[in-house]
Formats: sequence, structure tokens, C-alpha cells
Amino acid sequence: MATIKITDLNREGGIGANSYHVEFGPWRFVVDTGLHPKFAGYEALPTYSQIPDDSLDFILVTHAHLDHLGSLPVLARRHPDAKIIMSSGTSAIAGRMLRNSVQIMKIQRSELGISEYPLYTRGEIAIVEDQILPMEFLRPFRLGEDKDTLEIELHPSGHIPGAAAVRMTYAGRTILFSGDIQFQHQQILDGAYVPEIRPDLLVMETTRGATPSSPDNDRETVISKLLETISKILKQGGSCLVPVFALGRMQEMLAVVQMALHNGKLPPCQVFCSGLGMDIVNYFDLLSRKKGYPRFDRSILKDLGIRPPSRDLKPGRNPGNKGLYLVSSGMLVEKTPSYNLAASLIQDPANGICFIGYCDPDTPGGQLKTTKHGENFYFEELNHETTLQAEIHNFDLTGHAERSELLDFAQKQKADSILLTHGDQEARQWFIDKLEDVCPSSRILSPKPGETIKL
Ligand SMILES: [Zn+2]
Ligand SMILES: [Zn+2]
Repeated sequence: MATIKITDLNREGGIGANSYHVEFGPWRFVVDTGLHPKFAGYEALPTYSQIPDDSLDFILVTHAHLDHLGSLPVLARRHPDAKIIMSSGTSAIAGRMLRNSVQIMKIQRSELGISEYPLYTRGEIAIVEDQILPMEFLRPFRLGEDKDTLEIELHPSGHIPGAAAVRMTYAGRTILFSGDIQFQHQQILDGAYVPEIRPDLLVMETTRGATPSSPDNDRETVISKLLETISKILKQGGSCLVPVFALGRMQEMLAVVQMALHNGKLPPCQVFCSGLGMDIVNYFDLLSRKKGYPRFDRSILKDLGIRPPSRDLKPGRNPGNKGLYLVSSGMLVEKTPSYNLAASLIQDPANGICFIGYCDPDTPGGQLKTTKHGENFYFEELNHETTLQAEIHNFDLTGHAERSELLDFAQKQKADSILLTHGDQEARQWFIDKLEDVCPSSRILSPKPGETIKL
């Protein structure tokens, strides 16, 4: 029987530099090539040194978020003959995301003195783009010949456009990677479609393991509540900031806002957007025309009369124009439009900030979420301290499945072994406890970083 050996190369184990090295029979490959958003320099990379150079048959990337894609050129440089496999949707966006990453690393090199940045060049991204084999969803393809054939099938995972769950079958054994997965439909994208596969090994994300499921988490309910809150803030004469991730969430919010303005769920207002997300709009538009997904048309920008926010924002002073601001970053990271806007908005009780996704507790967004009304908040990078008077609201419009949905998924898949990934310790522990009841015949694995599991 073909052996499976799988090693988590993410040196921290949580959500970060996602990467797995897999030995499957004679095949050697890596699934995902992340870059850790919280670490800097070489520390942000997966432990690629655990793999002998020039040993991989292929590298597969599940989707274009940088915690899965961001170090692809570094790994590809060490394995120049490895094929690079991703969905055609992901391949359409990957180069743009990597070039943005180079730009940010160059800024960090000069501002923070990180001498190894950028970790790769635009030239290396071009080489990677040449090596990509773009694949379609639900069309199995084969690598190798005769008895050494490995079959791969990509399933839409509903997380962001192009995101895939991956089935790999060799010599009668199967591995299924859930990837980052969302079963509920989003405004611009259908939920995941993964049939019952009964794999030998299911590698499953656990992002929301520590977040209780609730009927109020239903996406439609959350969107209604979000729109009510934005309306209230605009009607009381304030501006509303919705910090969004550039890839996926900004475009979904544009579609939500367009529909709400058309059916009267939002009052007429000026909508402001900027940054990488505006560029991704063009890629989604092209993808929609070529592949039929996501449900997205760039005419939305014209329809909504989108404008960029003013460039001369001053901390503590309302921006010149009132309205709805859909800008990145989602976690109010320093030097981003959302960070600067928050510094202009939070001193005024008429204004509001609506967070729609996860914020790492160490980011300014995470810190603002735990700041109480009337307490002081310090915008370190701007050296600006002010009292929080604006409304702060949280809505869960994540691209990740609820934990109860993942339990159902695991139960349906009837895997021999389930390996937990992409979640912090608390999230994984919840799954370890629950899966023992729900999937009593499955072996539950939560390996330490760098540890190899043999099946
Ligand atoms: Zn993701
Ligand atoms: Zn992820």
C-alpha cells in the first residue's frame, strides 16, 4: 500500500505560513506556500529547509491569499523543475498578489531595515507565472504514467474566487485537502461543492473552531444587520468605515452595497474605495467573463460612483467628504487607508466602524475592537492619541465555514484520518474533542510544526 507522509512546514502551527510537504507513494509535493503576515524576514517563511532542494514533483497552491501563496517564488527557486498547479481562477490573480507583496517588502526593507527583503523579485514572479499549470474545477487530471499515475481534482471551496479543495488519488489511496472553505453562498460566489470522497486522509481547516455557531451567524442575517448599522450611522450624519481585505471581501461588499442602494436598504451616499482591492475588481471582472465566476462586473464601480478617499487625511479631523468607506486593510494595519481613516473618525460620536472579519489581537484593528467607548486609543504610527467616541461594531462575514458545518463535512467525508490545520490551539482543541464523538472511527491528528505523520 502506498504510504502517505505529511509534514506541516508552518513553523508556528496556527494560521500563518501555511505549507505541507507530502510524500505519497513515489510522489513528492508541497501544498500551499504561505508567508506569515505577522513575522518579518526569513521568519515569515515555512521551513522549506526541511525539504531537500530540487526534490519536488510539483507545488500546488489552494488559493491566492498570501498566507497560502506568498512564498511561492522562494520555494519554486529551490525546485526549478517542479510544476506549479493551481485553479485557473487562482492563477489569474496570483501574479498580481505576489507583485503587491514585493512592493510591500521593498517598503519594509527601507523603513524597518529588513535586509533580506524583498524575498523574491518581479523577475522570479514572471518565471513562476510561466510554470503554472492552470486547472479547471471538477475536471480530474493525471500526472505521471502507467501505474505511477497521480490523479488530482480541484473542487470549488467557496472561500474566495478560485479557491480550491483538492482531492489526490494514488494507487487506490486518497488525500483530501479542504483548503480554506466556506459552505454558505456569498454575494458574488457560491459555497463549496465537495462530494463525499471517503479519503484515507482529510486535511481540514479549523479557523473558527473557537467561535460558537449561532443561527444569527447566517450570512443573510449578518448582512441585514450590517446594512441597518451603516444606515443608522449615515443617517445620524456620520461617516462609516468598513475595513476590508483587498482580495474577496472588498468585492463582496461592493456587491452588497450595490444591491442595498438599489432596494433602499441604504440611503443614497458617496462610497469610497482604494488600493489593491480596486485592481482586483478588474481581475474578477475578467474571470467572470472567462469562467462564469465570480458573479461580478466592474461596471459596479461606475454604478456606485466610487471615488478614492481624500489623500490629505488628518488624525483627529473628519475627512472632507462624508460617506461609506470600504478600504483595506481589514485589520487596520499601519500605513493603510483603513488605519488612517480610523484615526480621522474615532473621535466623533456620529461616525462608526463596522468590522466584518477576523482581526488578529496584535493588530490595531484587534486592539480597537477591545477598546471601550470613552477610553483612549493610541495610533502609534501617527503618534496620535484620542478618545474613542465613534461606534464600533462587529459582524461576522468571514470566508470560513462555521465549526458546526465543518463537523458535518468531516462526518460526511468518512475519512480514516483527519488532520487539523489552519487554526490556533483553542480552535483545534474544540475539533479534537468534538470529532471524537462525531467521527468515532476516524483517527484525529493535530501534529506539531515540523513533525512528520506517516499513514
Ligand atoms: Zn484564505
Ligand atoms: Zn488561510
